[in-house]
Amino acid sequence: MTNYKQFFPIFADRHYHYLDSAATSLKPKTVIDSVNGFYEGYTAPVHRSQYRDASTATMYYEQAREAVAGFIGAKSHHSIIFTKNTNEGMNLIVNDLKEQLTDRDVIVLSKAEHHANIVPWLEAQRKINFKIRYLDIDVDYRLMWEQIEDWNLREKDAIRVVSLQHASNVTGTINPIKEIISFIKEELPGNTIAFIVDGAQAIPHIPVNVTDIGCDYYVFSGHKMLAPSGVGVLYMQENIRKLAQPLLFGSHMIEEVTEGGFKLTGDESDFEAGTPNIEGVIGLGEAVRFLHMNMKIIQRQEEELTIYGLEQLTKINKIAIYGSLDPEKRLGIFSFNLANIHPHDVSHLLGERNIYVRAGDHCCQPLMHRLDIPACVRASLYLYNDKEDIDALVEGIKNVQKVFNKK
Ligand code: PMP
Repeated sequence: MTNYKQFFPIFADRHYHYLDSAATSLKPKTVIDSVNGFYEGYTAPVHRSQYRDASTATMYYEQAREAVAGFIGAKSHHSIIFTKNTNEGMNLIVNDLKEQLTDRDVIVLSKAEHHANIVPWLEAQRKINFKIRYLDIDVDYRLMWEQIEDWNLREKDAIRVVSLQHASNVTGTINPIKEIISFIKEELPGNTIAFIVDGAQAIPHIPVNVTDIGCDYYVFSGHKMLAPSGVGVLYMQENIRKLAQPLLFGSHMIEEVTEGGFKLTGDESDFEAGTPNIEGVIGLGEAVRFLHMNMKIIQRQEEELTIYGLEQLTKINKIAIYGSLDPEKRLGIFSFNLANIHPHDVSHLLGERNIYVRAGDHCCQPLMHRLDIPACVRASLYLYNDKEDIDALVEGIKNVQKVFNKK
């Protein structure tokens, strides 16, 4: 196993078990150095000023766009838009698509979606009153996309948007998103459907090729994939981007402004109004280079650790695990509850032993309802985790059970 901890300065002088990467990831030295490099070496605006540091900043900013395009298999870097995070990407899409929707249309989501892929639709629905249908999950936490087959013809004909997660931040399920999209396209050859993928959990862990997947939009956040917070990506197929409406209007996106009107540039900068998160984008570029080079090893190591984690966790008494036990279908995200112990107590006590997990609804309240639980504990892995982290988690859980059984 490659010891990835050595690339992460946070481990240099502390020993702890960071198991909250589904919320946000730690940052490798190369990413930290690239951000510091901007601060210490060439701080300047992008796409504006003419001196050397400004050209350097613009060059690195645009190189990051190309790196992201290469990383996700986009045909052109003009289809990469830098956002703040997945939430912003989803809002941008919904804000544009809602202009084309009517109260006769159907939007397909799933019960496992993150609020970022539900709430913007619900907000738009208040004005347009389109119908939202939620695909269910089965006993193995698999998305039941073939449910669409059974819907009546009128409803199927009315489907205009399918917006699904590539991987779940609770169950860890990896959805075969390419297969799902092909299935729906074949099932509904006459429909014009916008296919949107929430890639926030998948992109840090598995190779993604948006062209191969056949989606129109793919959305993700930098902070979960080794990059700084406050930077995200919206991939929008170029033909769609050319017709889409920005969410924000203002400076930089403009070709011409008069007192009476304005003309947009017609390129990706139309969607990046104002001074962007330059150091965030540069850090994201570096994170993507790191992941690109290491993705195969990362994926293999995480698979091994997921198998080990499942083996160990399932040995614990009185634990309910919310996710498939088949390691091939999932990421290393372990959501669970312990009988008669509140998840917040579990995460608190684990935290006291330097085992960092998260408890709550994980911004997936409809999924919590579906699973009939108010909340759960989540331990999530990334490249810097190892068997020792899993062993500490398992010991920690047993300790929590001991503490509570004494009461
Ligand atoms: N979708 C999924 C599947 C997620 O896991 C998250 C983050 N938990 C988001 C969307 C939202 O990401 P962000 O908070 O970076 O906008």
